[in-house]
Amino acid sequence: MNRFKHLVALWILFGAISSCSSNPGADSRPNVLFVLVDTLRADHLSTYGYGRETSPRIDALGQSGWVFENHISHAGQTVPATISMMLSKVPAEHGFLHKGPGHFSKHPPYFDSDLLLLPEVLHDANYRTGGFVANPFLMEKHNFNQGFDYFLHDQGRGAVLTRAALAWIDRSAKKSSQPFFAYLHLMDVHSPYEPPARYAKLFAADEDGSLVYHNGPAPDLSKPDLDFTVALYDAQIRYLDDLVDELLNGLQERGLLENTVVVLTADHGDEFLEHGGLGHGTSVYGELLRVPLILSFPPLLEPGRRVEHLTQHIDLAPTLLDLLGLAQPSSFRGSNLFEPADLIFAENGAWRATYAAGAKLIVNGDSERKELFDEADALDQRRLENRDLEAELQIHLDDYQRLSELFEESRARGESVDSSAWTEAELEQLRALGYTE
Ligand SMILES: [Zn+2]
Repeated sequence: MNRFKHLVALWILFGAISSCSSNPGADSRPNVLFVLVDTLRADHLSTYGYGRETSPRIDALGQSGWVFENHISHAGQTVPATISMMLSKVPAEHGFLHKGPGHFSKHPPYFDSDLLLLPEVLHDANYRTGGFVANPFLMEKHNFNQGFDYFLHDQGRGAVLTRAALAWIDRSAKKSSQPFFAYLHLMDVHSPYEPPARYAKLFAADEDGSLVYHNGPAPDLSKPDLDFTVALYDAQIRYLDDLVDELLNGLQERGLLENTVVVLTADHGDEFLEHGGLGHGTSVYGELLRVPLILSFPPLLEPGRRVEHLTQHIDLAPTLLDLLGLAQPSSFRGSNLFEPADLIFAENGAWRATYAAGAKLIVNGDSERKELFDEADALDQRRLENRDLEAELQIHLDDYQRLSELFEESRARGESVDSSAWTEAELEQLRALGYTE
């Protein structure tokens, strides 16, 4: 990591020297294009080994950068998943929990201005910041626009947002030589699975089922209907891939791509009967938590690397700041993606999951269902029988639950998490989870 930070420093110094002669006011830090694709499972992208060619442009992006093959989101629903990534905090700490279809522990989910989100960190570091968001939970009304100089919420197709982002990059560049951070949160892979007709034909033309979509158990779903529904989901990915192509070509044509860190990821996936259900927000199985992550910035990340170790979303913002040569805010809890994450937590309603010691434990607090899987079993298909390992991971989940309660009590008292109201025993628990010094 020291060598990596040294490289970053050299890159920025080199850029600063290069830009001095031509434009003394310019900030030479790289731009950032951050594309979050709502509801995109990693295993339905061809670069992650999927059978259909759903993602030629994303595959090429992966070849120009690093593909994180085992990347984990902290929740199976948009709000806790996205805000965990933006705050670099697990759900237990920030407390935006998904309780049921469209319902949250804090309802509606309003993001207080004392929360420090990634766009604010970049704004304060002299970035011009643009947000282009299609998700209905992440609106100005919910204060999700904090830190963005420009924010567009539009629930239409992603083409509107991608074109608006490129237009904003041009427009804002005329006023300022600051680097840009453009965040796109696209809903084109989300239900209702209605891609433009020419994309639907690519994968669904030979299927004779009907489109089905709902959240939750689907015991009566027929195989033809499931196959047709999955084909349309895949067709939406192919459409999304063309939007990514348009964005990246747009940067290339403007001569900006070379000095832009490109991030592509998702908040969660979707279920297709792997565990009896459809949709998301319903469990913590691999089909929901395993999301793609590609980072591309050839000057610092040699192209073509496949990162096999387990990584997690709270480490993404800190890694991005490292790549940009910026310091971590003290509120960010993650570290970096270049080293394996040895303890990961995720949750969704009554479900909790932890990855540790090469395994994954899933517990449902309502049904008392408890299942252990090998970490390498990406979709949690074959249960492990190992009482010792199960007990070890259960201790982590108990700690996580206690942590969640401590933060909840703290919020109820209106105190910050750094308050001296913590007892020494509580602090010890926080330290055990890596939450305080
Ligand atoms: Zn989502």
